[in-house]
Amino acid sequence: MKFGFDIDDTLINLREHAFQLYNTKLNRTVAVDLFHALDKVEIHELFDMTAEQGSQMWNRSLEEIYFTSCPPYPDAVETLQRLDKEGHEIYYITARPDVHGKRTIDWMIENGFPVNRDRFYYGMKDEDKVNIIKDLNLDYYFDDKPAVLETLRNQPIKLFAKSQSYNRHLDFPRITDWSELFGLLIGEKK
Ligand SMILES: [Mg+2]
Repeated sequence: MKFGFDIDDTLINLREHAFQLYNTKLNRTVAVDLFHALDKVEIHELFDMTAEQGSQMWNRSLEEIYFTSCPPYPDAVETLQRLDKEGHEIYYITARPDVHGKRTIDWMIENGFPVNRDRFYYGMKDEDKVNIIKDLNLDYYFDDKPAVLETLRNQPIKLFAKSQSYNRHLDFPRITDWSELFGLLIGEKK
């Protein structure tokens, strides 16, 4: 089977990592409960920034957000390694900018994810993921962002939303913890 994965906030805990970096950089102590209650992807409001200030801060911090110690979610690495060992094809489709693409591949490898460099796509806009995913004929695709999942709704592909505070309203099948994956796949075949 062909499995496609978004990376940020699907396989790795990027926003929370950025949230902690913001606390440090801005010398703040915003409580993590507020982060977990956010109903949107962007985190700038918690630090009293406007959308514009927020996007400047994000872009300024991007290198640090991407390439320091952002943790994978529990069991994400092990689950993908098992899929790989079982002979499935694993694709990564991330909207991270082109300029950070190659380093992202290396970072994923260093962090234990099974990566085939020919099955790694980056630098597209969120709304253009659909075109790559269509061409790849994936059997499964996992993402956290409501806007991305919506563009794929009518495609012949099994979609899963990685559960996040900002996608609770979606009616797609969800995965809360990566340890659930094999159970979900078995349940689905029944
Ligand atoms: Mg994502």
